[in-house]
Amino acid sequence: MDYTKLTVAAALMGASMIYAQDAEIATWSGFRKAAVSFTFDDGPQSDVDVALPMFEKYGYKATFNIVTNWANGGGANGMLNWSGVQKLSEAGHEIASHSNSHPNGQPMPANEISSSKGTINQKIQQKYGCVTLAYPNCDTPGDSQVLQNYVVGRICNGSWKGGSDIMGKDGPNNWAAASALMTGSNGTSDFKGNMDKAVQQGGWVAFLTHGFQGKTNGFADYSPTDANGMDGALQYAQQKDKDIWVAPMGHVAMYIKERKASQVSASTSGSTTTVKLTHNIKDNISDYDYPLTLKVKTSLSKAEVTQAGAKLEAKIEGGYAIFDAVPNAGDIVIAGEGAGPESSSSSETTRSSSSGAVDCTANPTDASCQGMAIASELQNNFNLSVYRSSDNYIVVGGAQGMNITVFNSLGHQVRTTRGLGAVQKVYTGAKGVYLVKVGSKTFKVKL
Ligand SMILES: [Zn+2]
Repeated sequence: MDYTKLTVAAALMGASMIYAQDAEIATWSGFRKAAVSFTFDDGPQSDVDVALPMFEKYGYKATFNIVTNWANGGGANGMLNWSGVQKLSEAGHEIASHSNSHPNGQPMPANEISSSKGTINQKIQQKYGCVTLAYPNCDTPGDSQVLQNYVVGRICNGSWKGGSDIMGKDGPNNWAAASALMTGSNGTSDFKGNMDKAVQQGGWVAFLTHGFQGKTNGFADYSPTDANGMDGALQYAQQKDKDIWVAPMGHVAMYIKERKASQVSASTSGSTTTVKLTHNIKDNISDYDYPLTLKVKTSLSKAEVTQAGAKLEAKIEGGYAIFDAVPNAGDIVIAGEGAGPESSSSSETTRSSSSGAVDCTANPTDASCQGMAIASELQNNFNLSVYRSSDNYIVVGGAQGMNITVFNSLGHQVRTTRGLGAVQKVYTGAKGVYLVKVGSKTFKVKL
C-alpha cells in the first residue's frame, strides 16, 4: 500500500470533505405509487358546470381536450366558448387539443395536428403550453407528426391497439398512443378498481370522459358519466393521497420523460448538500420543466432547501430531505435552517407601500399600477418593484441584470429569467399567489 498517497488524499480532504450523497428521483410525484389522469373530450358546457366545481372541491387538476372550431362557435350547441375554456385554464387545468374540426367517423386530418395547437396556444396562455393531443375517434393521424408537436398523443382504451389499458411507470409503449379508459354508460364506471390496479402495478391510469348524465353536453353526448361516481372517485383518490397522484395527462407525460432523462447527483460539504438535477431533452415542444420529486440523504434534522437561491417547500424524514425541484433550473442546496439566502420579510413584501408607492397587489386598478405611471416613478429613483399589470402579468421594474424567479404557492418554480428592461413582464398563468424572487428580495403577488 502506498501510504504517501493515502496521507496526501486525507490531507486534501481535510475539514471540508466533499463526498457523493444518495439522491433519488421519485417514480411518481411525492413518491406516490401510481398516477391517475382525468381527461375530458370535446369541451361541452358540462365541463364548466360539473367538472370544474367537482375538481375544485378536491383540489385536483384534469385535462380538457378542446375542439377549436367548436370553441370558436361562441358557445353555440352546448359547447364552451373560449372564455369558458379560459375559466378551466385559470383554475389550473390543462387545456389540450382535440383537433380543429372533429370529423365524424374519420381519422383526424394531419394538417390539424399543429394548427389546433397553434390556436390553443394563441387563445389560452398556459405554463407548459398545449402539449397534449387527444384524437377524435381514437386514432392517431400519424405518430411521427404528432410527436413533433406534442409531448403525448392520446387514443382510447389501449387494449384495442395492442397496448395495455393501464400504462406502466414509463408510460405507453408509443407516446402517440397513450391509453385512456372510456367512462360512462358505454364504458367503465369502476374508477376505484382501476385506480387500485394502477397502485398495485405502480403504473398510470387515465380516464376519458365526455359529458355528464342529465347535463348540457352538446356534441359530447356519447357515453355520459354519472357525476356522483366521479365525485366518489376523487374522494377515494384523496383518501389514498399517499399512494395516488392525480395530475393532467400532459403533466404526467412530462414527469415521466424528465424522470427518465434526468441525472441527479449530490455532494456534501460540512452539513450542506448541493444537488444537481439536469437533463438534455429540451426541444421545440417543451423545456420539460415540470418539477420532479427528489429524496436526498442529509445529516440535518432541520433544513432549508433552496434552488437557485429560492426556497423550496421541503420535509425532512428518516434522514432524507424530500422536495420538488425543476430540472435545469440551478443548483439545489440543502442547508441548516437560517443558513440559506435571505427569505422574504414583511418589510420587503410590503416594500411598495412603505416606499410611498401604491400596493398594486391590493389596488390593481389604481392608475399608478399602469405601465406609464410605474415608469415615471422609476425615474424618481424608485428602485425595485414587483406588481400585477392590468393585463394580469407579473411585472418587475428596476431589476436590470438581476435574476428573477417566480414560484407558485406549492413552491414550484414556474419561471426564471434575468431582468432586462426598466419594466419587464415576467409571467402570467393560473390565478393564485406567487412568490417572485428578484436578486435576494422576495415579493408576493396575487394573479
Ligand atoms: Zn371527441
